[in-house]
Amino acid sequence: MRLLILGASGAGKGTQAQAIAKHFGIRHISTGDFLREEIKPNTALCRAVKRLIDRGDLVPDELMLSIVHEILEGDDFILDGFPRTFAQALALDEICEKLGCPIDMALNIHVPDDDIIQRITGRKVCPNGKAMFHIIFYPPKEAFMCDHCGGVLEQRPDDTASTVRHRLRIYHERTLPIIDFYHRQGFLISTGGTGDVAEITQNLIDLLNAKLLVAKLEKEMQKGIRR
Ligand code: AMP
Repeated sequence: MRLLILGASGAGKGTQAQAIAKHFGIRHISTGDFLREEIKPNTALCRAVKRLIDRGDLVPDELMLSIVHEILEGDDFILDGFPRTFAQALALDEICEKLGCPIDMALNIHVPDDDIIQRITGRKVCPNGKAMFHIIFYPPKEAFMCDHCGGVLEQRPDDTASTVRHRLRIYHERTLPIIDFYHRQGFLISTGGTGDVAEITQNLIDLLNAKLLVAKLEKEMQKGIRR
């Protein structure tokens, strides 16, 4: 199964993608995590990409496309953070066709902007791994310290209030139109992303199973009509 997960940064895409990947036994591919891992070397390109991420801007489509082309293989996955622009959505269709791995469903998580701002500005990450905490919703046992390794928690440079507002503006302008694109193709599942995390996961899984079943039945009906 090949899935996309859409939503603003802070909507809970990463958390839900991880849970869904675990449930279905598929790979979780996050373009944001991939970029953060890859920009560690001190090269001019890495510094330029880091500046874009820290400012809350998008990395250019051409670069993102070459990355996605490389990391998407024919096996099952949930792709988190891509596409983010209409051009990326169109190119993804082409890449999937070429690789013979069409997308089965796009999942969209909607969270109001004010909640996103509160979620992201309170977020703290461990520099030694990907462990994430929140000063209100998921505080570490000891202030400013990672529960797993004792590392001093940090705020991601792109998680400040002004950068989050900038990212939201970009999301509304450039990413939201994609949701309608998938809706018109009939493979979008949308759900609210506020409330209990496990309930949101279950809701997404139930909607996904129901939609996949309908798609399968429709395909079988079409085959029957043709026979
Ligand atoms: P995320 O962890 O998904 O919030 O991504 C962090 C940052 O990585 C984004 O704010 C962008 O700067 C960059 N990024 C991740 N995915 C993409 C993409 N598909 N297109 C452009 N930039 C991206």
